[in-house]
Amino acid sequence: MKVKLIRYTPEPERVCGMAAALTHSKTTPEKLEEMDDEQLKEILSYVIKLGHTSVIEHANFTFAITGVSRALTHQLVRHRIASYCQQSQRYVSLDKPTYVTPPSIGKNEKMKKAYDETMEKIWDEYNKLLDLDVPAEDARYVLPNATTSNVIVTMNARALLNFFELRCCLHAQWEIRRLANKMLSEVKKVAPTIFKNAGPPCKTKGICPEEKKDCPLYPKKK
Ligand SMILES: Cc1cc2nc3c(=O)[nH]c(=O)nc-3n(C[C@H](O)[C@H](O)[C@H](O)COP(=O)(O)OP(=O)(O)OC[C@H]3O[C@@H](n4cnc5c(N)ncnc54)[C@H](O)[C@@H]3O)c2cc1C
Repeated sequence: MKVKLIRYTPEPERVCGMAAALTHSKTTPEKLEEMDDEQLKEILSYVIKLGHTSVIEHANFTFAITGVSRALTHQLVRHRIASYCQQSQRYVSLDKPTYVTPPSIGKNEKMKKAYDETMEKIWDEYNKLLDLDVPAEDARYVLPNATTSNVIVTMNARALLNFFELRCCLHAQWEIRRLANKMLSEVKKVAPTIFKNAGPPCKTKGICPEEKKDCPLYPKKK
């Protein structure tokens, strides 16, 4: 999997900081431009802490995501507060096997061999259908959840905080969790104040809504 932050709102923390300052000030938005970075960061942190996260909707982040499974993209697009574009299996025929191998299979040589052989067989059948002039949009029905896909996704910072809360959690599946952690490390570089306290609720709030008491990160009673 490759994850790259390809675009984001310029000066995301200044824009969101100005939005936060506006809500607590008599000054006009133009005057807020004169505030320095430190002042804006301070008010931004304060307003986020209060839970007024609408101010961070002004910052958008666009990611290029390559080589993830269709199982992952199905989970990803459930996050409705986002914009997506995904490589089409109607217009793009995938004549060569291209698939993700879960670590639980990859770690075992015998399982990996059986898995790879199954994928080869699936792609043989897929290519046979294409050779019989079945359109790619119908031949793809035989392809597995493991098939790789490429996506461009844009989310605002508020939607990202929700995404990280749900998908950085150990209860989320390994692949989307890996994606979420990579996305989090990318946005932290460009908006450290906004994402300082981002992650699963055990980390950000000291609670586990899933009540997964057997989880190694389950919050310990103080
Ligand atoms: C560990 C895990 C297991 C899961 N298992 C399943 C499963 O078995 N089956 C399944 O179907 N899904 C499952 N999901 C998906 C989950 O139910 C959500 O659909 C997904 O995580 C998107 O979350 P969201 O709605 O908060 O995000 P978004 O769609 O991005 O929404 C963000 C927030 O906006 C608000 N919002 C968005 N749309 C509406 C609306 N229409 N009405 C009111 N408020 C809205 C909500 O506050 C929401 O939290 C699972 C998710 C996780 C993390």
